[in-house]
Amino acid sequence: MSSSEPELSIPLDYKILYSKRKTIELRFENANTLLIKAPKNTNPQSIANILSRKADWISKTRLKLSQRWPVPKMAADERILLLDEWRELEINPVGHKKISLSESGKIVISKDLAMQGAQVLIPFYRQITHHWVHHFADLYSSKWQLTYKSIRINSAKTRWGSCGANNTLNFSWRLAMTPLLSIEYVVAHELAHIKHHNHSKAFWQFLEQMMPHYKQGQTWLKENGNKLPQI
Ligand SMILES: [Zn+2]
Repeated sequence: MSSSEPELSIPLDYKILYSKRKTIELRFENANTLLIKAPKNTNPQSIANILSRKADWISKTRLKLSQRWPVPKMAADERILLLDEWRELEINPVGHKKISLSESGKIVISKDLAMQGAQVLIPFYRQITHHWVHHFADLYSSKWQLTYKSIRINSAKTRWGSCGANNTLNFSWRLAMTPLLSIEYVVAHELAHIKHHNHSKAFWQFLEQMMPHYKQGQTWLKENGNKLPQI
């Protein structure tokens, strides 16, 4: 496919952990290490059987993991994902307690903050998500008379957004790594749930009326959502 194709020629490393448990569980530690949790005294043949039965899942999961973009190390001149663009990181010897954007679009961080690792990006991503989510929510709620109670930004890893009881809306700060069109789609999607609390045909039709180009935003998330760095 492309040069980002994973190096699956690296052999898969198996780690077996025996403990007081009743079933065998398979879990990837990373793309090249599969952890096998097994009950004490499990016979090696049972493990071999499970591995062959799960061969398809193992190769698919491994492929997915190896395509994931790495968690930034916050090193000089590294590129950081922001709104679907890889922005240059600029590390200042002295500086603020907060990450900021330079006029040329670089992500500016103090040396002290950078040394704390990728976690320091979370408040920054949260702020960006908060800004754009409110921007689109204001736009769509007034145009379509959809009244929401509140907006909260959370850390969800697999759900971009949700619409709870009483029309409280939740969005993941991870949206800050995705294109504006995807943020717009997720906001329009959750607002559309105020009218249709399900994924019926009527829901999708209404969403299409609200945002005729919603599929572009949705497709990006489907294709790239599970590649985002797991900060
Ligand atoms: Zn939904």
